[in-house]
Amino acid sequence: MDFRDYRRERDLMVEEQIIRRGIRDESLIAALRKVPRHQFVAPALKGKAYDDYPLPIGESQTISQPFMIATMIHYLNLTGTEKLLEIGTGSGYQTALLAEMVEKVYSLERLPRLAQIAQERLNQLGYKNILITIRDGTCGLPEFGPYDRIIVAAGSPEVPSPLVNQLNEGGILVIPVGDRFAQTLLVIEKREGEVIQNEAGGCVFVPLVGKYGWKT
Ligand code: SAH
Repeated sequence: MDFRDYRRERDLMVEEQIIRRGIRDESLIAALRKVPRHQFVAPALKGKAYDDYPLPIGESQTISQPFMIATMIHYLNLTGTEKLLEIGTGSGYQTALLAEMVEKVYSLERLPRLAQIAQERLNQLGYKNILITIRDGTCGLPEFGPYDRIIVAAGSPEVPSPLVNQLNEGGILVIPVGDRFAQTLLVIEKREGEVIQNEAGGCVFVPLVGKYGWKT
């Protein structure tokens, strides 16, 4: 039996790791309080699910640190009506948070096994506004675009041009760009056809592997 009080652990995570560090976005805080992060990791790691760091999810990939995910979502500046594209489904945890906050989430994952596990979990939790596709996300998903928001959960050597092309007018793209071991979070906005780029601090992500990312 598992007697841990995950709701309490989750509330503590939100208070200590998110709110105390300055993130106050209402719908994001509500989503973080709701989505059961412990159900997105292997049973042996459930006790660590609300700790302040990333955890392995198999296939050399990780579920990102809660604060990193919250920071990226904060920069998306969501209003609730967006059509959103996520690159790097991974465990599906961030996908679930986003599905709580916007109308429709399209999520791309290159590793079939991870995509399949995430899909099963999200189905079990009852999400109906998520479409996961097994695909090289550096090429985006043109058939359903353009998107109001695009979020990339893996580090890229450069900004993949297809993602900028698939961004709506007024849209925002959040992506870690840099070398393999350290990146800068870029917040890219498309305003009146112009592309405006801002930096939002350092971060460390697993590599974005694909045609417009790392080659291996
Ligand atoms: N936010 C996720 C973390 C994902 S880790 C979570 O909460 O669990 C990054 C994911 O990006 C990995 O699953 C990796 O397989 C995936 N990935 C890397 N390159 C990709 C690409 N080109 N297209 C789609 N997914 C990619």
